[in-house]
Amino acid sequence: MHPRALTPGIRVAVAPRVYPSDMALALPPTLSPSKVSAFKDCALAFRFSVIDGLPEPPSPAAVRGTLVHRALEQLYCAEPPARTRVAALAALAQALAQARDHDGEYRQLGLEGEAEERFRAEAECLVHRYFEMEDPTTIRPIGIELLLEARLDGVRLRGIIDRLELDADGELVVTDYKTGRAPAPRYEQGRFGGVHFYAFLCEAVLGRRPARVQLLYLGDGVTIVATPSEQSIRALERRVGAVWQAVERACATDDFRPHPGPLCDWCAFQAHCPAFGGDPSAARSAGTVMAGV
Ligand code: SF4
Repeated sequence: MHPRALTPGIRVAVAPRVYPSDMALALPPTLSPSKVSAFKDCALAFRFSVIDGLPEPPSPAAVRGTLVHRALEQLYCAEPPARTRVAALAALAQALAQARDHDGEYRQLGLEGEAEERFRAEAECLVHRYFEMEDPTTIRPIGIELLLEARLDGVRLRGIIDRLELDADGELVVTDYKTGRAPAPRYEQGRFGGVHFYAFLCEAVLGRRPARVQLLYLGDGVTIVATPSEQSIRALERRVGAVWQAVERACATDDFRPHPGPLCDWCAFQAHCPAFGGDPSAARSAGTVMAGV
């Protein structure tokens, strides 16, 4: 991959999707950090979501997270002196008003009265916590909500970086906002898959490895920082390559195994899951086959 100019929104030209003729199921066109972790968590849930295109009802936490991301994105559209707490809360209020009028997922939550007020207060709390964690007037962003794509062997990798910035030494720093709480230390390593994924994309597309990737957990004010290395990026390549091979095998044989565990409690696909007495084959007719994203 050739280095590219450091320009927000840059995308790498990619080859068309490949659909080997003997595949039982079409391959997903891209892999992202969330798809990699979804496949590793439960291959069958991955199939329902990514291959069959079954809709998943929105959760308040996910919708709230999207709105807070929008507010912070808007904050960084302003010059440094204007990146105030008041401006961020106004951006959140605007995002909320737009969601109320136009966002189908927000409406699906059915929030009214006190519930809606609580939802708004919790979102505001995340914005206040953000200001306790860093001073946005000191940040030098060069990309916000930056879509990066690159090829790794036969697969297109794709990720959206919340914020790419330059530190005082002119080094690249990737910042990812998390609107939940930080994982317990013993689970931290499991969350770094996405971190190294972003580092790989930066190196592949921009020709420079970021000096740091930081996860800002607005739920409890914890920042986790990782320093990507040659070794960590090569390990990421091996891990993603192995996941892609497993996805190819599963698509070729239509063999996506359920992996029952704690995540089942939040799974939207229990009705189709054999672990809960469901029939996975019924899911295909219920979903939109290969939604192409
Ligand atoms: S209910 Fe559990 S095992 Fe079944 S698809 Fe969902 S996560 Fe996988």
